[in-house]
Amino acid sequence: MKKTVLVSGGAGFIGSHVTVELLQAGYEVVVADNFSNCDRTCFEGVKKITGREDLPLEVVDFCDEAAAKAIFHKYHIDAVIHFAAFKAVGESVAEPLKYYKNNLVSFMNVLEAASEVGGCNVLFSSSATVYGEPEKVPVTEDTPRQPAMSPYGNTKTMCEDILQDTVKASGGAIKGILLRYFNPIGAHPSALIGELPRGVPNNLVPFITQTAIGKRECLSIFGNDYPTPDGTCLRDYIDIVDLARAHVFAVTRMMEGKMKKPCEIFNVGTGRPVSVMELVNAFQKVNGVKLNYKIAARRPGDVTAIWADPTLANNELGWKAERSVEDTLKSAWAWECHLAGK
Ligand code: UDP
Repeated sequence: MKKTVLVSGGAGFIGSHVTVELLQAGYEVVVADNFSNCDRTCFEGVKKITGREDLPLEVVDFCDEAAAKAIFHKYHIDAVIHFAAFKAVGESVAEPLKYYKNNLVSFMNVLEAASEVGGCNVLFSSSATVYGEPEKVPVTEDTPRQPAMSPYGNTKTMCEDILQDTVKASGGAIKGILLRYFNPIGAHPSALIGELPRGVPNNLVPFITQTAIGKRECLSIFGNDYPTPDGTCLRDYIDIVDLARAHVFAVTRMMEGKMKKPCEIFNVGTGRPVSVMELVNAFQKVNGVKLNYKIAARRPGDVTAIWADPTLANNELGWKAERSVEDTLKSAWAWECHLAGK
């Protein structure tokens, strides 16, 4: 019998790519999404890529406790991967309660539901944002967390603690893995799923592709006076398919009882720092397009430099990032062109 994974937020950017990789690895998936921050494009794309017209979909808001519990009673869920959350940093500063309410309550409901059915493997999508501006790079999982720079970041830190405490109190019924993502970019090689930001993108790569296609006039590079080799910030850009594959390794580790402690943490990054300027130049070069950009003021809240030490994930999960930045940037451009019907 196939093991079933519930993917909350499964129609979003990361959730849709994870769903594809899980299905292709032989898992059954139940996608749950309330489509509050995405449309059906990626869900349809997932069905096309995997040939699964019958892929189960539950349109549900995990803030609704009864609805969350109903899913765990309807299906036998062997593991849940929780993505359903708001993710705009700036908006979280303007509307903190919206973020605390949605991101914390939905996760607590997932944990309540998992407990009610006797336990479950729980994978939470955390973020490198929990490291703040680290004193030393690259960061390992033991690098101390820093106070969050935004309510969004705070919800990641708090959900990490909520999972740790719940696992501890569950007497073995609930096991947890926290994956700390660095900067996920790119799209599926089929160009049938990818990032679909609503309104003006906050993140660098969607802003680049939208500028290149003519949806935005000019990319602003936020600061070139940072203490880095070229003055622009350094990040660890991780290919979305590589990132998605890490989830399959993590879920399998849980299912096969290979965890070394009841709640484990892994960085999911490449270990390779890339500057904003390098990324912009690479995008232009590999795609043969000219990008209109200017140097602008620093963006408040940005850290200077952060990248992962992925050794633990490499050794323990047996996972490694494989795709080059160039191939990832090609996939991001192919997706933008697909959206534009080109
Ligand atoms: N960035 C930029 N222009 C943009 C968006 C982002 O120069 O329009 C820079 C940002 O300052 C940071 C890097 O790109 O150094 C990555 O930002 P993003 O928002 O994608 O991810 P973050 O690391 O902030 O989570």
